[in-house]
Amino acid sequence: MIEVILTRNLRRDILRGHPWIYRQALKVSVQGSQQTMLEASHGQLAKLLDQKGKFLAWGILDPSSVIGFRVLSLHEKPPNSAEWKKRLDECWQLRASVRGQGETTGYRLINGEGDGFAGVVCDIYDSTAVIQFDGQGCSEFWDQEMIVEWLVFRGVKSVVDKSRMQSSAKTLFGPEISDYQIKENNLTFSGSILHGQKTGFFFDQRDNRQYVRQLCQELSVLNVFSYNGGFSVYAGMGGASSVTSVDLSAAAIDSAHQNWLGNGLEEQKHNGIAADAFDFLQQEKAAWDIVIVDPPSMASSEKSKERAIVKYVEVFSLAAKRLNLPGHLMLSSCSSHVSFADFFEIIEQTLSNLRRRGRILRVSGQGMDHPFPHVCPELRYLKFVHIFVY
Ligand code: SAH
Repeated sequence: MIEVILTRNLRRDILRGHPWIYRQALKVSVQGSQQTMLEASHGQLAKLLDQKGKFLAWGILDPSSVIGFRVLSLHEKPPNSAEWKKRLDECWQLRASVRGQGETTGYRLINGEGDGFAGVVCDIYDSTAVIQFDGQGCSEFWDQEMIVEWLVFRGVKSVVDKSRMQSSAKTLFGPEISDYQIKENNLTFSGSILHGQKTGFFFDQRDNRQYVRQLCQELSVLNVFSYNGGFSVYAGMGGASSVTSVDLSAAAIDSAHQNWLGNGLEEQKHNGIAADAFDFLQQEKAAWDIVIVDPPSMASSEKSKERAIVKYVEVFSLAAKRLNLPGHLMLSSCSSHVSFADFFEIIEQTLSNLRRRGRILRVSGQGMDHPFPHVCPELRYLKFVHIFVY
């Protein structure tokens, strides 16, 4: 039995539901003997004690990760498979409204710490489940067979492990699957699980795409960092007069165009451009009524945040210049290091560069299938703001 002792007073944070303890705040004791963190092995269930030696929590010990300990339970009895099944059932029940949203067969079923499954993400693509473990510790800790068995019981026919530390995906159950086709709010999207970004699709923007759909009637739309055309297809279905999708990846643009056609939209109303967004926005002279900008995460750490803020302001300012004024600017950021407060600062600087004013019509974030612990704003990573620029 491994016991982990806090070297800082984080008792209150843990009791309030904070899911992580950084490596520097821990020391490890194995059967009474003190060891350094690195000597203890990965992915083991460990007991967390406070500085006075009192029980605090059970969790996953992962000395190889910056997050040395991930909390799983505050009960004195160690969590068992009945507890995991209960949590899995809860994940399923909490997504009932997503599954009932028009026809929706693609969504996030398990969102790591936000669902009591530290370091596990599981996305559903119709009858395929794609799992990602965050690091080796989590991959080794979780009983993959138990999760697979439960998924199969829920109707899943194939389970793919596309963890970040692996170079390729691994089929854990059922036939090998490389592509997906899903419904989202009655729209059809296809793409590649193996070669796509993340697990294949950005489910976190579902509600924001649906929101954009209502605003597009007879307006021209520019979708920058379009990926496989999520916002573009919704805009088209919402009656946009034309939609331009821009992404660095030619495969993403190709897929965006396929998704456009796959929903019965008129070919000539979609213009897919494979280009660097910064170059495109700098060279382009045309203007659009609605401009959507959803760049990849630009801050990989707290240290790179300041530089990322400058980058966001740069790309948002370039994009805002392509608006027909007054017009609608939809700005998004998926970087967990950029807070909502930082994001408002970015918006302020963007509009100030433009010498324009804005009215904010909507502030939102990730959909309800991406929950986060109430004391963990780091996991409230997605920001989406609709600004009427005049
Ligand atoms: N809005 C999309 C998700 C965007 S993800 C959705 O709703 O599905 C970010 C996208 O930015 C990726 O597709 C990536 O290929 C693209 N990208 C990254 N760097 C880029 C650049 N410099 N110029 C254009 N696109 C870029």
